[in-house]
Amino acid sequence: MHASGTVCFRAMRMSNLFSPTLRDDPADAEVVSHKLLLRAGFIRRVTSGVYNFLPLGLRVLRKIEAVVREEMNRAGAQEILMPMVQPAELWKQSGRWDKYGRELLRITDRHDHESCLGPTHEEVVCDLVRRELRSYKQLPMNLYQIQAKFRDEVRPRFGLMRGREFVMKDAYSFHADEDDLAREYQNMFDTYTRIFTRLGLKFRAVQADTGAIGGRRSHEFHVLAESGEDVIAHCSACDYAANVEMATSCRKVPVSEGADLETVKTPGATAVEDVAGLLHVDPALLVKTLVYRVKRADEADEIVAVCVRGDDQVQAVKLARLLGADELVMAADEDITNIGGVAGYVGPQGLNARVLADETLKGAVGLIAGSNEKDAHVTGIDLARDVSDAGYADVRECREGDACPTCGGGIGFSRGIEVGHVFELGRQYAEPMEVVFQNADGKRAVATMGCYGIGVSRLVAAVVEQCYDDAGIIWPMHLAPFHVVFISLGKSEQVINVCKQMYEDTQAAGLEAVWDDRNERPGVKFRDAELMGIPIRVVLGERGLSAGKAEITIRGGEKLEVPLEDVLNFVRAEFDRRAA
Ligand code: ATP
Ligand code: MG
Repeated sequence: MHASGTVCFRAMRMSNLFSPTLRDDPADAEVVSHKLLLRAGFIRRVTSGVYNFLPLGLRVLRKIEAVVREEMNRAGAQEILMPMVQPAELWKQSGRWDKYGRELLRITDRHDHESCLGPTHEEVVCDLVRRELRSYKQLPMNLYQIQAKFRDEVRPRFGLMRGREFVMKDAYSFHADEDDLAREYQNMFDTYTRIFTRLGLKFRAVQADTGAIGGRRSHEFHVLAESGEDVIAHCSACDYAANVEMATSCRKVPVSEGADLETVKTPGATAVEDVAGLLHVDPALLVKTLVYRVKRADEADEIVAVCVRGDDQVQAVKLARLLGADELVMAADEDITNIGGVAGYVGPQGLNARVLADETLKGAVGLIAGSNEKDAHVTGIDLARDVSDAGYADVRECREGDACPTCGGGIGFSRGIEVGHVFELGRQYAEPMEVVFQNADGKRAVATMGCYGIGVSRLVAAVVEQCYDDAGIIWPMHLAPFHVVFISLGKSEQVINVCKQMYEDTQAAGLEAVWDDRNERPGVKFRDAELMGIPIRVVLGERGLSAGKAEITIRGGEKLEVPLEDVLNFVRAEFDRRAA
């Protein structure tokens, strides 16, 4: 019945507990989880994006780890522990030393050897496996660890949600062929579903962009919460769900008649709404043309003009993936002039640059675009006629109310916190890292890989984002730092003795108990217990003692009086009911 084998202290006196609580919200904390974890004394900041876990915070972290570990083991993965410091040579071999950008914290040691702090471990695990791998008979293999990562994030924020140093579970699988990789991908997908279900989270698996790690099939697991940094597009009718960074959708676009090109004066009108207002047309009939400077490693920058409907937005992540860009920046006015445009009045016609238009513009006629001259637009644009070499692709950002690409149902948006990510990597790392083996035909083959991450420390925050009220955190029983708090009121020795006895009996019964024996006012004790989110609170004062009853409150739920001799059974039953 004991909830977690990894937490060794079952009991604690509050007078000894290092859990400094704060009465007020810390000024720099924006989201609920950050505020409450600081206030309740679970974490403390060391420096930007770097935190100490205090006893209560660590207990929760360990319980989440335990669930992750149990399910990974059950799924057949093997736990290892890799180092945080990784040699540059490995990253040079994979090609990421130059590509990874500034999130990679690079260090130089006393021998002038370059290393980095691991933001992820593909290189190290490939190096580990390639040294031992000989034959297909050793495959498949899935290795994982639960370990601290370092990423020098541009904007560390929201406490544990986006740290620079954070705890991740990362797993890497190696396979002889694609079918086996697909099987393991499904195995991990199902394992993640079990993990997040066990953690009691409202979550959704969504199709995802494969980002810097690259690859093919990929899903993110998002905890649904207002404070989430990601936007998820999902269908109300079928199970289509995708990160807005890659979501596709269909929209009905207004049509217009074909016409000849004509220049119209639009002095000072550069914004879509202004032009549409001036010409009395639907903004969807305007062609919005954005000029980007596309940066790629080892290549000269390319200038690309990208067109979407006037009321659509370009989805920059989609676009970057499509263009194979390492970085996309808006072109400078000078770049625009160089390709024959005028900033604020750019149109796709006659530009001396590659033009990429959104699919919703294909075949459209009678549109309005910038004229590439100051203070003027052109009407009657027919892209097929006037920009005959334009390419077409899905570059627009999906919008709420669009039609689902698979079933035509309505697309809605939710905010999500990404807590897990599964990738089919293929041979992207195995190839350059030379993870090779002899296949069944005796031939040399390159292994194919999957990788699977879970933000373990981010999960601590994600759980809080879904479980709190005005008074503080409401931990689900199996993640709570303690299952039950005993509060003795006043200085009566008898009250203290009875309370102490109940507390000792409870821990002897295998529950994790804390006894608030501090010399504090009742209000302070109640407030702290609620703030910390301990599920069961047992209060005993002099009045209760003479009536032979303790007051038991379930955090976020009911309050009742229980005869002293029944307290242990009651608490045990409550624990069993809620920990199930
Ligand atoms: P994000 O889009 O949030 O930056 P990512 O795509 O960079 O995430 P992965 O490389 O897939 O993340 O890392 C695996 C998991 O690690 C993520 O799903 C997330 O839960 C967690 N994680 C990533 N970055 C951070 C961070 N800065 N702080 C805390 N957890 C993180
Ligand atoms: Mg990231």
